[in-house]
Amino acid sequence: MASIFSKIVNGEIPSYKIAEDNNYYAFLDINPLAKGHTLVIPKKEVDYIFDIDDILLGGIMIFAKKVAHAIEKVTPCKRIGIAVLGLEVPHAHIHLVPINGANDIDFSKPKLKLSAEEFNEITAKIKEAFQTV
Ligand code: 5GP
Repeated sequence: MASIFSKIVNGEIPSYKIAEDNNYYAFLDINPLAKGHTLVIPKKEVDYIFDIDDILLGGIMIFAKKVAHAIEKVTPCKRIGIAVLGLEVPHAHIHLVPINGANDIDFSKPKLKLSAEEFNEITAKIKEAFQTV
C-alpha cells in the first residue's frame, strides 16, 4: 500500500507544496514545530533514509539545501535545523525547521496549530523565495 507521503506526491492527499522536481518533493509539515517547518522526501518510496541509494541520498541534500535557503529568506530564524526521525511515517523524509535555539527543534514539544490561511501564507512566501535561491 502506498505511504501517506506517496499519496501526497500523487495528489491523492492535499499538501502545502513548496517545490518538487523529478525525484524530490517538499511540503509543509501539518504539525509544525515552527512556521515554515518543511518535509523533504524522495518521490521513490523508501522507508529508512539510510536504505536510499547513494545517488538519490546525495541529491536529497542538494534539493533540501535550496528549500532551506528559501525558508531562511522568509522566516525570522538563526538557522534551518535539520532532523531525520522517521518514527511515524515509513517514507524517508528530512525535517527542515527554522530555529533560534536547540529547544526549537525538540520534537517532544507541543506542535503549532496553524490555520489554513497561515499555512497558505507561509507556503506562498517560501515558494516565491524558492524561485530566486
Ligand atoms: P516522523 O516520521 O519524522 O517521526 O514524523 C512524521 C512527520 O510527518 C510528523 O512531523 C507529522 O506531523 C508529519 N505528517 C504526518 N502525516 C502528515 C500528512 O498527512 N501531511 C503532512 N503535511 N505532514 C504529515
